[in-house]
Amino acid sequence: MQKTVLMNYAKLLARAGLNVQKGQEVIISAELDQPEFVSLIAEECYRAGAAKVRVEWTHQPLDKISAEYRSEEVLGEVLPWQEEKLREETKTLPARLYLESSDPDGMSGIDEEKYSRARRARLKITKPYRDEMENKYQWCIAAVAGRNWAKKVFPKANAAAAEEKLWEAILKCSRAYEGNPLANWQAHNEELAARCAYLNNLGLVSLEYKSSNGTDLKVGLMERGLFMGGGETTLAGVYFNPNIPSEECFTTPMRGQAEGIVYSTKPLSYQGKLIRNFSIRFEGGRAVEAHAASGEAALKKMIAMDEGAAYLGECALVPYDSPISRSKTLFYNTLFDENASCHLALGRGFTNCVRGYENYSDEQLKAMGVNDSMIHVDFMIGTDDLNITGVTRSGERVPIFREGNWAFKA
Ligand code: ZN
Repeated sequence: MQKTVLMNYAKLLARAGLNVQKGQEVIISAELDQPEFVSLIAEECYRAGAAKVRVEWTHQPLDKISAEYRSEEVLGEVLPWQEEKLREETKTLPARLYLESSDPDGMSGIDEEKYSRARRARLKITKPYRDEMENKYQWCIAAVAGRNWAKKVFPKANAAAAEEKLWEAILKCSRAYEGNPLANWQAHNEELAARCAYLNNLGLVSLEYKSSNGTDLKVGLMERGLFMGGGETTLAGVYFNPNIPSEECFTTPMRGQAEGIVYSTKPLSYQGKLIRNFSIRFEGGRAVEAHAASGEAALKKMIAMDEGAAYLGECALVPYDSPISRSKTLFYNTLFDENASCHLALGRGFTNCVRGYENYSDEQLKAMGVNDSMIHVDFMIGTDDLNITGVTRSGERVPIFREGNWAFKA
């Protein structure tokens, strides 16, 4: 990919993605196969005023070896110095950039059970620090074209051509291929904000999903619930974009209020297993029945992960005509694939989807209907004939989606 295009993309991530503040620290998580792009983005962060840019390198083949050879106990430990580092970060609040480039199949073959039990053990220790930092710092997940990832997405092309094609797809979906990426993002953000404002003004109490594939689901919404999309603002008032690309207007639904059945429209890759053609039936908000053409055991295990894993944590609206959907490319990566389709998530909800969330404790937010869980797993339910109808407090029925796309003008 041309260096000038990549520099513009790096600028987009540093300025619009992270919105690095003067004197702030930046932590970049990246794979070892991306030294050139990481240098570009580090320089853009410094230009934006970063005091220090630190890179946490990972190398997926090494992660796989560790997963194979380390005992569950060792894999699951958080050492005192690692905990101390987290504690320090809750005070310094560095901006965090997660650059994704790894091979979607890179960890396949490891003992998933062992790996997920170890992750759970680590989460028990790290979750309070993550909760403490939530909504206080800027973060952004974005992608870089990794070689093995590119081969998976474009199996017919040779390695170099596949990489170039993946770069092109990433940049097009991120609105960073042509024109001025920062201006493109601003226009896109304004549209998302206008759609969210419209939805938030309706005073919706529920969403009703209907599609010819059998989906017939009613999901309750929280009284103080908010639709959000595109950029977010930290508690300190810094505007940033947590996902580039992003196409969704999403909210956290009311825990305990989901009735009916929903059919998946894309395979779900969960902990190395592919779950295909599945349906989940909800009763009183809880997933009470699940079937899958393949991967049913993994699906059931996911739902039983903890108490909150059987409840919904997200309803996201994505038009069938979004650029990612139109690209007809399966990226094998949630950042892209979730933006290709309307989706729901099982597990943890977003506390900042509650109006005035900063004035409430986590316990109060839970009591209002925000679900909590160790997992948050998106699954796709969008079709070209999906209709979504909103029901307002006064009982009025408002078309939100018709034939897979927005039913109202922004
Ligand atoms: Zn989402």
